[in-house]
Amino acid sequence: MRLKRLYDREAPKKEWGERVETCPTCKGKGVVVNQSRTGVDQCPAGCEAGRLVTKVPPVSGVQVLHAGPEQHFSPNFLEGGMKESWLSMDTDQITIHGADGDLVYKVLRTPGRYGDEVIHYYDCKKLKGA
Ligand SMILES: [Zn+2]
Repeated sequence: MRLKRLYDREAPKKEWGERVETCPTCKGKGVVVNQSRTGVDQCPAGCEAGRLVTKVPPVSGVQVLHAGPEQHFSPNFLEGGMKESWLSMDTDQITIHGADGDLVYKVLRTPGRYGDEVIHYYDCKKLKGA
C-alpha cells in the first residue's frame, strides 16, 4: 500500500509537531573542523547541537496512491493511522478514510500463532474502495 500524507499547513502553529534528525553536515557533533584544521567551528548547517529540528504541520488525512486487493498491515501502521485519524478499526474490519473515499478491508487473521506459523501483522482482504 502506498499512501501520501496530506498536511494541514493552515493549522495553528501550536498544533505543529517537530521532526528531529541527526545533522548530516556535522554528523550530530554540532561542530565541524575549521578550515585551517586548528580547531572547530560551529556547524554551518545551523543545527542545534547536532540536531536538525523541522517543524511539521499536523496530518489532515491521506491520499491512497496504491492499494492491493490483499494487504498485510502492521500494528504500527494501524496505530499511526488511528492516531492521525485517517484509519478506523473494529473487530474484523479496517477502514482507511482516504481523501478520495473510503477503503474497507476485512481482517482475515490478526497477529498470532496459526499452527506452526506466527504472523506479526493483520492479514486483510479488500472489500471495497479503489
Ligand atoms: Zn550540524
